[in-house]
Amino acid sequence: MRANFFLLTIIASFTLTAFRQSPTPAHVQLPISNLQSPIHIPHSAFHIPQSPVLQSALTFESFSVTHTFGAQITFNVTAKSDADVTAAAVLMRTGDSDRTEVIQASVTPSKNLKAQVTRELQAQPISPFTTITYSWRLTDSQGRTFTSSDQKYTYDDNRFKWQTLERGAIIAHWYTGDLTFGQYIADTGFKSLERASRFINAPLPPKVDVYVYANLNDLQSSLRLMGRTWVSGHADPKIGVIMVTASPDLIGRADLERDVPHEIAHIMVYQATRAGYDRMPVWLDEGLAVNSELQPRPDFAAALSDAVKNNSLIPIASLCGSFGSERAHLSYAESASLVRYILDRPGGAAKIKGLLNAYRDGATCEGGVQQELKVSLIELQTDWQRDVLNSNPLLDFLRSAAPWLVLFVPVALIFALFIFVPKQKM
Ligand SMILES: [Zn+2]
Repeated sequence: MRANFFLLTIIASFTLTAFRQSPTPAHVQLPISNLQSPIHIPHSAFHIPQSPVLQSALTFESFSVTHTFGAQITFNVTAKSDADVTAAAVLMRTGDSDRTEVIQASVTPSKNLKAQVTRELQAQPISPFTTITYSWRLTDSQGRTFTSSDQKYTYDDNRFKWQTLERGAIIAHWYTGDLTFGQYIADTGFKSLERASRFINAPLPPKVDVYVYANLNDLQSSLRLMGRTWVSGHADPKIGVIMVTASPDLIGRADLERDVPHEIAHIMVYQATRAGYDRMPVWLDEGLAVNSELQPRPDFAAALSDAVKNNSLIPIASLCGSFGSERAHLSYAESASLVRYILDRPGGAAKIKGLLNAYRDGATCEGGVQQELKVSLIELQTDWQRDVLNSNPLLDFLRSAAPWLVLFVPVALIFALFIFVPKQKM
């Protein structure tokens, strides 16, 4: 009994000593690594409290950023300190990303710091017109660290001199044409957003920047950086940016009436689905966008009737993921027709809303259709083909297989006669 008590006392005092020698730190100081290339770390790791005494030892004097579109972006800082500043890094986030890039600057130790760091854009492009949020983190010779407040910078396509005009949530940007053209862009955007919000029931975005390029070449050279070369318009719903092409004439106005509502519809679909947007079936997203356009698409009707004639319709299941460039035209035509078919049936708008909610909540392409329309994708395809295209997949199959059936049926009949007709008794 006494020996046990003695043993317990030793264990207790040892445990207490061990705890005293290894206290859990309240804040873990994050060391700046010496990596040369940018790395990604969660941005929450940088909420490091600074005491007012430490902050007063260094003053950030100026920040500036410049960029060559598609090539590189350069950050500059000047600061005064009571000790030599020995290390500097930019902490950078793009758009609404929660990842922070750390880009190390090479620094000549000084109390009057002038530092510059360049981020290359070819290998790791940034979407045009993204807002960059950045701060500078400096370390002095005494090991103290100082982080500036967040700064904002817009990575715009500065190859052109943009003019700007606002109407409601729409901010029109253009570089060819006069103010009348700019007003037409803003009005078209305003009208499109109003229409799309009736069409797709979702909260309005706080703002939509509409960038109008004067020609396809200018737009595509901008989008090529993002690896998308064949599109004629582009929406980046997460940052509320759309990019289209239109010249300041009547043809350009018709282009605006087709493309601006289309791209704004993508923004509204994003507003309805948010985190689920990346999982949205493309046929639904694009189908809603085409149906929002203010100009009809007679070429789509022709593409559909050709595909029915040639029995070359694309299965809807193949339109769940992104469209390839090869059959893009027919993919858009089918998606538009299918969404119009769903909308025109009783309770169509509610069904679309139900589909958007299902995909927002993580349904698969097939699962969302089964849940909201109570049919499989194949059944939906059959119903749509029969009701809209006056085509029947079974008849289409028989029609395409006709030459083979002509050969096969007589041969099969001869075999059947040979096997099943009772033989006469001799
Ligand atoms: Zn689209």
